Amino acid sequence: MLKDLKLFTELAEYLISEEKNNPVATPIDTSKLYETLDISLNENPTIDQDFIAALKGIIKSTPKTASTSFFNQLFGGRIDRATLGDLLAVMLNNSMYTYKVAGPQVGIEKTILHTICNMIGYPDTADGTFAPGGSMSNYMAVLMARDKYNPKARNEGISNKMTLYTSAASHYSIAKNASFIGVGRDQVRAIKTNDKGQMQAKDLDQQIAKDIDLGFQPFFVNATAGTTVLGAFDDVEQISKVCKKHDLWLHLDGAYCGAVIFSDDYKHLVKGIEHTNSFSVNAHKMLGTPLSCSIIVTKEKKHLHQSFSNDAEYLYQTNDDDFNLGKTSLQCGRRNDALKFWTLWKSIGHKGLKTIVNHQFNLAKFARDYINQHPDYTLYSFEDSISVCFNYKNIPANKLCTALYEDAQLMVGFGNFNNKEFVRMVTINSQLQEKDIVNFFTTIENFPI
Ligand SMILES: *Cc1c(COP(=O)(O)O)cnc(C)c1O
Repeated sequence: MLKDLKLFTELAEYLISEEKNNPVATPIDTSKLYETLDISLNENPTIDQDFIAALKGIIKSTPKTASTSFFNQLFGGRIDRATLGDLLAVMLNNSMYTYKVAGPQVGIEKTILHTICNMIGYPDTADGTFAPGGSMSNYMAVLMARDKYNPKARNEGISNKMTLYTSAASHYSIAKNASFIGVGRDQVRAIKTNDKGQMQAKDLDQQIAKDIDLGFQPFFVNATAGTTVLGAFDDVEQISKVCKKHDLWLHLDGAYCGAVIFSDDYKHLVKGIEHTNSFSVNAHKMLGTPLSCSIIVTKEKKHLHQSFSNDAEYLYQTNDDDFNLGKTSLQCGRRNDALKFWTLWKSIGHKGLKTIVNHQFNLAKFARDYINQHPDYTLYSFEDSISVCFNYKNIPANKLCTALYEDAQLMVGFGNFNNKEFVRMVTINSQLQEKDIVNFFTTIENFPI
């Protein structure tokens, strides 16, 4: 192993130098991928020299998500202490289902979950788990809600018409999950948003009342902390009142920006979070841990058990169920996603997490100010968002982003809201500085299109 760890260090150093010197890897056209790189699998072994050369070729052409030119997605950058934790998790190679197999790693996971539950004002009955991404966290939430309001569903399946509610600007996983849980996509009600992309509590209330009249069984409302395009925050407090009135499960999808709970300066954006029934947050987005690191917590632990536990004698061979995490998990074998978040959090403290969160909002404000000061730009996003949406001159966003990518200038994506398409740059890489933001804009301005 030590020999390959040495090789690993060599390859990692190569990657880091590539990130610096070629921050946007030149993309390979899909039609040329297999002839350009040595990817094929063959009958015979590969000699070390060719093996290493193949790996370096692949590294060179792989998009550099930790570079200062990557603004394309809702993650980016590399925080050393978090990466260290993930590398260790790979070496340790535990599976999180039992205390017998994962030992103290279980305590690490539980400590993260309980600290978050405390921070958001959940009672001692709360608990949570790690899911393979924000979409799956949302899936767990809606499944718990289905089983709470339709206790027969778990064994008998669904026979009544259950409806769920989310804003038109929410993540697509809500509709997918409605299909996964047997409720069906047609039973998802997309509630209108205001011009800032926030779900309208009044429309929500009216739609629920209408569905009840029509004989449906409303059971679940999804609110979003950081919508995927605009980065908008739904008003949790107002929505929670509607949920209370009709006795519905309220989930807060904080995959993108739920990490504001770590900042005294921004946690007001999820005011009322203690009234939710469940909350999810992706540490691999704002907190910069390696993919993936998604957390779902729920106010009443019993719902996790009711929906996800299963007896299995071959697996559960010690009795302390509180430490046998498989009983509250979507999966059986489960990789250790907790350690990387713990190594980050342990090393920088709550204060360090707050600094990360605040820095991203500061960078976004800096970017908005830049746009407002330059008449060639039109701004589409709002305060308190780390999604900076804009158009440059009258160049269609789609065309601009694709040209910048193909010419290996910048990685940035586009989105739309209210029938307007725009560039969406995301200031989620907390290692970036103002000069990197300026560089982003000047690259666009100097780009011949
Ligand atoms: C990213 C995102 C998700 C999905 O998270 P994955 O980890 O990519 O599955 C869900 N909801 C919102 C609001 C998101 O931004």
